Amino acid sequence: MKGIDLSVWPPRLDRAYRPAPGEKYWFPEIECAPRAQLEKIIFDKLRAQVRYAWERSPFYRRKWQAAGVSPETLRSLDDLARFPVVQKSELRESQAAHPPYGDHLCIEPSQVARIHGTSGTTGRPTVFGLGRDDWERIGEAHARILWGAGIRPGDLVLICSFFSLYMGSWGALAGVERLGATAFPFGAGVQGQTLMAVQWAQQMKPTAFYGTPSYALHFADTARREGIDPRNLGFRILFFSGEPGAGIPATKKLIEETFAGACIDMGSTAEMSPWMTDGECFERKGMHLWQDIVFTQVCDPRDFLPVPDGGEGTLVYTHLERTSQPMIRFLSGDLTRWTFAPCSCGRTYPRLPQGIYGRIDDMFIVRGENIYPAAIEDVLRAIEGFGGEFRIIISRKEAMDELLVRAEIAEAHEPRRAEIEKVMRERLQARLGVRPRLELVREGELPRTEFKARRVIDDRDLYRKGTS
Ligand SMILES: [Zn+2]
Repeated sequence: MKGIDLSVWPPRLDRAYRPAPGEKYWFPEIECAPRAQLEKIIFDKLRAQVRYAWERSPFYRRKWQAAGVSPETLRSLDDLARFPVVQKSELRESQAAHPPYGDHLCIEPSQVARIHGTSGTTGRPTVFGLGRDDWERIGEAHARILWGAGIRPGDLVLICSFFSLYMGSWGALAGVERLGATAFPFGAGVQGQTLMAVQWAQQMKPTAFYGTPSYALHFADTARREGIDPRNLGFRILFFSGEPGAGIPATKKLIEETFAGACIDMGSTAEMSPWMTDGECFERKGMHLWQDIVFTQVCDPRDFLPVPDGGEGTLVYTHLERTSQPMIRFLSGDLTRWTFAPCSCGRTYPRLPQGIYGRIDDMFIVRGENIYPAAIEDVLRAIEGFGGEFRIIISRKEAMDELLVRAEIAEAHEPRRAEIEKVMRERLQARLGVRPRLELVREGELPRTEFKARRVIDDRDLYRKGTS
């Protein structure tokens, strides 16, 4: 096959390979392979990956022995479900006992070429040690998936996201560079930087944008304050990770209208880079699971068995070409639904038609109803007159949960305030199954975030503490 040699593991990739710009696929024989053929490719890689981890990682050997499985267990792709899932807390424990990388590291610490990590806001930070060849494969995978999203060597990609421990920006950069497009790693997070980014965008005329959906909308607001219509900035393609917004239909529509470009949803989870393996193609019908790079399945959150076509569950990921810290059956906690219905792009990977719309632990329960913040966002963004920002406040009064949605009303729509309030209330109630209290505030009153938006405030714990 041109560009890749699958007879060895990890596959040997030709760093000089690149399809002609008119080609639709990077590796057509893999991306559009009949399902059985694709599964054969996946299974061969999986067997090699599992054996590799068994031989090199005390973490996996211990875990699998306790569960009564070994590389011999794997006789078909379905057998993978017999392997236990890996939880985030296990990685932290592994690293606490065997600092700094944990005993799931399968290479010598001196072979680690890059260090990344999670910030540790919810506990001990997790350290990612990546070997040089792993990093190269991440760049290869991202180039291939960006190609599917429509990026070509002639593009100039403005990367408006943090260059820090966070791997998102670095992964985007690696992909853009390998694909042969022009990278403009601008960054984000410094005071005044968004205004500068807008000014640079006017000067350099980038054709593609990478960041979070919240940040893109903040970027657009900043441009408008400067008297610039974001549609005139020339972004042909905007691709996103870090937040679910780009997969929420109303937010996707808003971004596409704001910039007059295609909004592409991407992103799995930090542990799993290449993170673009959950990634939309240019058709934008929901993220494809690029399963021959990272074998990804939607599983029941109770028994972790794959759910049928069309079913809802949590994403469980397995690296297929990782030599440093392979994740085999990593439990993401992200909530989604998958389908094997064909995509008009011709690729045979399953898709997540509604993107990732929540987390098992993000979900909150109000009066017995499961509520996802993304559903509230979807409702609000579809209403004309919504001012762009909102908060969800859950509290408890007289033993009853109360859901308050505080939403902005667009300045130009103030005269229609009563009507908008009514529409919001009705649609929220219809979607959520509970009647929320609604509070409309002026546009711009709620602070905008530059990174992952935190929009849910749960006051019920405070209440419990105060009264117990
Ligand atoms: Zn597609």
